[in-house]
Amino acid sequence: MNREDVLAAGGRLAVEAARYTGIGWMRGTSGNLSEVVSRDPLRLAVTASGLDKGELTPSDVAVVGEQGEPVAVTGVEPLTPSAEAGLHARVAAVTGADAIVHVHALNAVVAAHHWPEGVVLKDVETLKGIGRLAHDDEVVIPVIENSQDMAELGDRFEAVYDAATPAVIVANHGLYTWAPTLHRARHITECVEWLLAYRIAIR
Ligand SMILES: [Zn+2]
Repeated sequence: MNREDVLAAGGRLAVEAARYTGIGWMRGTSGNLSEVVSRDPLRLAVTASGLDKGELTPSDVAVVGEQGEPVAVTGVEPLTPSAEAGLHARVAAVTGADAIVHVHALNAVVAAHHWPEGVVLKDVETLKGIGRLAHDDEVVIPVIENSQDMAELGDRFEAVYDAATPAVIVANHGLYTWAPTLHRARHITECVEWLLAYRIAIR
């Protein structure tokens, strides 16, 4: 991993963040996106803290290790990573996914309020968009309690993780999704959010 790898990831993260901001999922500098830039040791490029996610540039990125701790890379300005970078690293380690999306999508928070034990979905065409079946396939989007302690949040995530379901809701907070690429993670995020909106609408 070198400066070019980090800036290339930063460029991709900036494009995705602008897109999510346009949908209203990253308001007020909230949310964060990451991409794995090295597996051994685990290193992630994650959007820097406190910046408007609709205005990021390729260098508005921080590099973190497996606990979310900042890692120095020659030629890369050491910006402060998001406080939630530790959970991104945990998700990358547990799932094997190389792209992690975290957005403060309203429907995720509302759905977790209604179904704190998990959001059950079945017999909806859009389930195909997250790799599940349109018929006779009961999908549960897990919900975990919020925490400011990323290790604790990581343990809660690992306890409910199901390899067939690429999303988890953090109650009173937002949504995490993951995939092999940012492009795929985008489509999963869009479909999960649609499914949650649908579930709320028909309740
Ligand atoms: Zn958040």
